[in-house]
Amino acid sequence: MDTSEIRRRFVAHFERAAHTAVPSASLLLDDPTLLFVAAGMVPFKPYFLGQETPPYNRAVSVQKCVRTPDIEDVGKTTRHGTFFEMCGNFSFGDYFKQGAIELAWDLVTRSQADGGFGLEESRIYPSIYQDDPEAAYFWTKVTGIPDDRIIRLGAKENYWSMGVPGPGGPCSEILYDRGPEYGPDLDFGPKGEDRYLEIWNLVFMQDELSAVRSKADFDISGSLPKQNIDTGMGLERVAYLLQGVDNMYEIDVMYPVIEQAELLTGKRYGDSWETDVRFRVVADHIRSTMMLISDGVTPGNEGRGYVLRRLLRRAVRSMRLLGAEDRVLPELLPVSRDKMGETYSELHRDWDRISQVAYAEEDAFRQTLRAGTQIFDLAATQVKQSGGTVLSGDRAFALHDTYGFPIDLTLEMAAEQGLEVDEVGFRDLMSQQRQRAKADAAKKKGGHVNTTAYRRIADDLPRPVEFTGYREVVSEG
Ligand code: ATP
Ligand code: MG
Ligand code: MG
Ligand code: MG
Repeated sequence: MDTSEIRRRFVAHFERAAHTAVPSASLLLDDPTLLFVAAGMVPFKPYFLGQETPPYNRAVSVQKCVRTPDIEDVGKTTRHGTFFEMCGNFSFGDYFKQGAIELAWDLVTRSQADGGFGLEESRIYPSIYQDDPEAAYFWTKVTGIPDDRIIRLGAKENYWSMGVPGPGGPCSEILYDRGPEYGPDLDFGPKGEDRYLEIWNLVFMQDELSAVRSKADFDISGSLPKQNIDTGMGLERVAYLLQGVDNMYEIDVMYPVIEQAELLTGKRYGDSWETDVRFRVVADHIRSTMMLISDGVTPGNEGRGYVLRRLLRRAVRSMRLLGAEDRVLPELLPVSRDKMGETYSELHRDWDRISQVAYAEEDAFRQTLRAGTQIFDLAATQVKQSGGTVLSGDRAFALHDTYGFPIDLTLEMAAEQGLEVDEVGFRDLMSQQRQRAKADAAKKKGGHVNTTAYRRIADDLPRPVEFTGYREVVSEG
């Protein structure tokens, strides 16, 4: 079943059950606590917090999401994208646990001929929060699943809050058993997560929290005046189950990028774990890069712009490590656009701008790499020849300061050579530089940072060098 058909069925199912279909919000909602929208509930936050009255009691959406903390998992698990689409249904003081379980169960188990997803009941394991007997009661009542098929998990996995005092509540997940080739029997811990795949998370908002110290440490001070439902079903996760492929990067809207990358690199997907991870990173990052630019992000040195820069550079570098020397974005981005553009027509309308931003950033990065890679390789060779395993903070700082290598690029390249980087030393030098810049600026009173010294170095180089000032990247956590 095509991704677009899964999306359509999800929305139609909930519209039939009197939900109002709400279009996806931009990834860049104006919320100071978030870098990007990372869940379907974010645009509805004012309703859940009681700050605004919703114009409907029930809503359904398919929300664009970006989760930067998942970047390291991309391509290594079968299920984590930096960009993905979250299908969700929401109840604002209307139906609660029983209704949410009924609606979700109906859609996933109803036959495909009858408009559902046709997943096998015997492979579904609901998980609940261990202190939520009500959820267990409704799961058995609604589905007839025996109580011992219901997995009890702790607060870390199955209690939801926003990390601050306010609404909270237990969650319940739908896990789907993909079979023994994906992991040992009945292991619901971290190792079992690609076998017992979490496809849908139901949040039962019922508690008033007076304090939240960590995911598993909070005080419940009472009950919410109105109980709400917030759910999230991963569109790509359901797609890879229904398309019978191994992972989310192989679904209909993502795999063509891998195929194009094979053509450009001459390497074959499926040959080795290491190269497969790179292909999957390319498929994922190309898509998230495009979706972020489409929503208005431009590459930069901090915040959202830095995330975009990092994603785009990782895609380009993964292609390079696979063997592509030439520019790759003009070959890859249109492939992703043609797939995603079926749903997001703005990708076509706004293509000139989107592609220009992306291609210019690739060109800038190619220059950075040209200037810095030799220096890095030399440094790495020297460290190894002297029997060391750590690239000094000085070296990392020089790479950053002179060649525009952001620290995480240096970290990645070092890791590929089996080396570590003295990050503490690097950060010390960075903060010393910042202090000097501040002092300089104060002296000059003009408020400008003195960059003459760096410019001079740049002028000595054969090509202009881009200067990137690295700052800590804020993430949604
Ligand atoms: P996981 O435990 O697999 O990391 P999660 O518990 O972090 O998932 P939720 O925050 O519950 O995910 O989000 C709701 C749903 O969105 C998940 O059940 C999953 O189907 C989907 N989802 C979450 N993160 C991703 C991601 N990085 N890529 C693709 N789909 C995702
Ligand atoms: Mg997660
Ligand atoms: Mg989870
Ligand atoms: Mg979850």
